[in-house]
Amino acid sequence: MAETADVVIIGGGVVGTSIAYHLARKRAAKGVVLLEKGRLGSGTTSASVGGVRSQFSTEINIRFSLESVRFWRRFEEEMDGLSADYREMGYLFLAKTAKERAIFIRNIALQNSMGVPSQLLEPKDAERLVPGLFTGDLSAAAYSAEDGRAGPYEATKAFAQRARAAGVRIHEETEVIAIDSTGGRVHSVDTPSGRIETPVVVDAAGPWAGPVGKLAGIEVPVKPYRREIFVSEPFDGLPAEFPNVIDLHAGWYVWREGAGVLMSGVKDAHSSYDTHVNWSGLGQVAEFATHRVPSLARASFGKKAWAGLYDVSPDDHAILGAVPELEGFYVAVGFSGHGFQHSPATGRLMAELILDGRTTGIDISPVSITRFKTGALLREPLTAHAGTMSG
Ligand SMILES: Cc1cc2nc3c(=O)[nH]c(=O)nc-3n(C[C@H](O)[C@H](O)[C@H](O)COP(=O)(O)OP(=O)(O)OC[C@H]3O[C@@H](n4cnc5c(N)ncnc54)[C@H](O)[C@@H]3O)c2cc1C
Repeated sequence: MAETADVVIIGGGVVGTSIAYHLARKRAAKGVVLLEKGRLGSGTTSASVGGVRSQFSTEINIRFSLESVRFWRRFEEEMDGLSADYREMGYLFLAKTAKERAIFIRNIALQNSMGVPSQLLEPKDAERLVPGLFTGDLSAAAYSAEDGRAGPYEATKAFAQRARAAGVRIHEETEVIAIDSTGGRVHSVDTPSGRIETPVVVDAAGPWAGPVGKLAGIEVPVKPYRREIFVSEPFDGLPAEFPNVIDLHAGWYVWREGAGVLMSGVKDAHSSYDTHVNWSGLGQVAEFATHRVPSLARASFGKKAWAGLYDVSPDDHAILGAVPELEGFYVAVGFSGHGFQHSPATGRLMAELILDGRTTGIDISPVSITRFKTGALLREPLTAHAGTMSG
């Protein structure tokens, strides 16, 4: 492989493939190479449960959601018939303390001011929405009917297929092992099959963003954290359809998954690349699950489970854009558990930044990598992967 490229994207997850697709959409496909060390979508994208919501508590995340939801809704049309299986069943967030209720009220005011139709529910109303939910110890719930889910595998495959058809060169099983960044700018990347000369490199390596940054001599502050998911056998103790339920206080969620239900397991408190499923920890999870949804005591969870890596930045927000210290080096990483749903907006914005030198519609300066030096960190009270159910 002796190649030249205008842009090399490192990482073939939903983020890298969306950037490739959006570069192709701007007629730049022929100069783009995407390198993936495994198979497309085999990184943390394969562990995602595909949640899509606009119920965030910072403006920047809500802007990314609003644009991305518009994209998910027209995905099939945009992708010429390929589907991402997008559906809106709503998200129901649960608060336990008075402080959490107050945060929900503030979040909803911000969301409503930006056009998100979220609303505060009293615990009894939440129970009416999800019969079987124990709400006796809750202080409030937040609900938006326009939140939903899509398929991470389907979306990644569609982005890649359309990018490839337009001329993007995609190489799987091709790891980037070196980046030449002498003299303060990017020159090339090395893989076991050869060198690719390029003036632009995009780090879209998900939980591996840090090691890829290191190849270029750049510190990219993203850390991997293991999170488990358990899926039950067919289960009729909850309605056939109900909103995705997120207990923010506990850091636990339960969603309908086909005829069964899916629930989150432990999220590690320490960073690692470990993705094993700790079946012996299921008891601790079940204890809380049956408190919140007593009928889950009848559900069978013994067969299907997986663990994936959250791609966490120091302030739980993405890190996007150019890296000032190294000309030609860009990052699209650190999505902290919501990179799947924000991949459409991320792809468009990164393509604009790379090709036009600026973005339209959304100002991405708040999520620039420079914030870790200037101290302008973002704050999102109650992130969806917070909570106490950590190992
Ligand atoms: C259990 C779980 C549930 C989740 N649920 C949701 C959800 O409901 N909604 C949501 O929006 N998000 C969710 N997420 C987060 C979401 O999965 C990620 O934010 C998103 O998939 C990140 O995509 P990515 O393309 O950046 O990363 P990845 O999919 O990890 O892609 C990066 C790719 O880079 C490749 N790579 C790494 N190093 C190199 C190298 N040196 N050379 C070449 N290739 C390399 C890797 O092999 C990998 O395929 C969840 C995550 C987990 C773990």
